[in-house]
Amino acid sequence: MEKIKKCLSCDEYLLKDICGKCGEKTVNPKPPRYSPEDRFGEYRRKQKEYSK
Ligand SMILES: [Zn+2]
Repeated sequence: MEKIKKCLSCDEYLLKDICGKCGEKTVNPKPPRYSPEDRFGEYRRKQKEYSK
């Protein structure tokens, strides 16, 4: 299983220790369990905002 990391500067999730965009060190995101369902939930919320 790959460890997901998060760049706090870009607010993006990635799998590297260093962010390729800003060069900042990434950290482990606070929620220890990161599931694809969370991503879909976020996506669906955004879709809902768009359709308004
Ligand atoms: Zn970054």
